[in-house]
Amino acid sequence: MVDYLIVGGGIAGLCFAELCYQNGKSFKLVTDASQNSSRIAGGLYNPVILKRFTGLEDAGLQLDYLEEFYSTIEKRIGVQINFPLPLLRKFFSVEEQNNWYQAADQPKMTPFLSTTIVKKVIPGIDAPFNYGRVLRTGYLDTLLFVETYQHFLDCNGDLFSESFDHSTLKIKDDSCAYNGIEAKKVVFAEGFGIHANPYFNYLPLDGTKGELFIIKAPELKLTDIMNTSVFILPLGGDFFKVGATYNWHDKTDVPTEEGKEELVSRIKEILQCDFEIISHMAGVRPTVKDRKPLLGSHAMHRNILVLNGLGTRGVMLGPYSARMLFQFAENGTEIPLHYSIARFKKKSV
Ligand SMILES: Cc1cc2nc3c(=O)[nH]c(=O)nc-3n(C[C@H](O)[C@H](O)[C@H](O)COP(=O)(O)OP(=O)(O)OC[C@H]3O[C@@H](n4cnc5c(N)ncnc54)[C@H](O)[C@@H]3O)c2cc1C
Repeated sequence: MVDYLIVGGGIAGLCFAELCYQNGKSFKLVTDASQNSSRIAGGLYNPVILKRFTGLEDAGLQLDYLEEFYSTIEKRIGVQINFPLPLLRKFFSVEEQNNWYQAADQPKMTPFLSTTIVKKVIPGIDAPFNYGRVLRTGYLDTLLFVETYQHFLDCNGDLFSESFDHSTLKIKDDSCAYNGIEAKKVVFAEGFGIHANPYFNYLPLDGTKGELFIIKAPELKLTDIMNTSVFILPLGGDFFKVGATYNWHDKTDVPTEEGKEELVSRIKEILQCDFEIISHMAGVRPTVKDRKPLLGSHAMHRNILVLNGLGTRGVMLGPYSARMLFQFAENGTEIPLHYSIARFKKKSV
């Protein structure tokens, strides 16, 4: 019997698998490729809401753990996946500059907002009001993470590449059985795929489709991350990842003409140079209306757990949330209400 059966091999499920490794717990992970949010994500981590220059809840704690967590994984799989990189916010007016200074003066924002205005000439971008720099930022190469970590699990015989069929799961008081696998607990980390899960599909996970491009722009000499109405992430050479759109109606992962037009017009607002679209991708973010994760156990079956709702910030929230759920499952450590499915009282604990 293994300690955990994990369903879903995106950021959430893989973070939980890593927690099992770090704590000597045995597990098997079942995943298909029906959702691809983790594979195509921008991968940025940034503690600041750049529209308002305010901080995200628990940002400092999440970043402290993020650094340690991904660096442990890098050592284990022998590949760099976390790339710390400065993030610049282009100012569009003097008023924005002033708002930035005001925000940076607040004690809770000092760790995240530099008070030095960045007066950099970046060929390809016109910025007469210069830039502000957010601190403690970077990106996770999420595709590399998912592929190398899944390969690592596969080599250990811990990965099953198949769709999970919920109807064949047998739940007993202190264990579960699925297709010949006996596990003490099951962790569902299916992203937007939660809608096919009879145990947790009552949770209000809406899903927000996002589209992004890889572009080639030889005249753009950007080496930092730029974030304004879109983010521009330098990938090396003349290539950049640019995104993303937000669509609350379409729940498919098919790139659209509408998404393409929107991205092109937003890129043209920022770039004063030519660019060529190399690829166009789409995925559905597992978003919840209150923008908080969904962690906890099923009201009737305590050994059935959920790790979802990472929304637009899976890179920062993934490790932190997985640890919270792991400590809950192992030691009964209470999950704070704003991370817990207990805030949706109807059927959960
Ligand atoms: C365009 C875009 C840009 C983004 N940019 C960023 C960013 O810059 N920074 C950031 O932090 N986040 C970003 N995100 C959000 C981030 O991608 C998500 O928060 C994160 O990937 C969610 O991970 P997850 O593991 O919960 O879900 P998913 O990535 O959806 O993974 C769920 C996994 O479970 C599998 N699965 C589902 N159902 C079943 C089943 N029945 N059987 C077997 N397997 C199943 C799916 O196939 C998938 O592999 C972005 C998302 C999009 C779409």
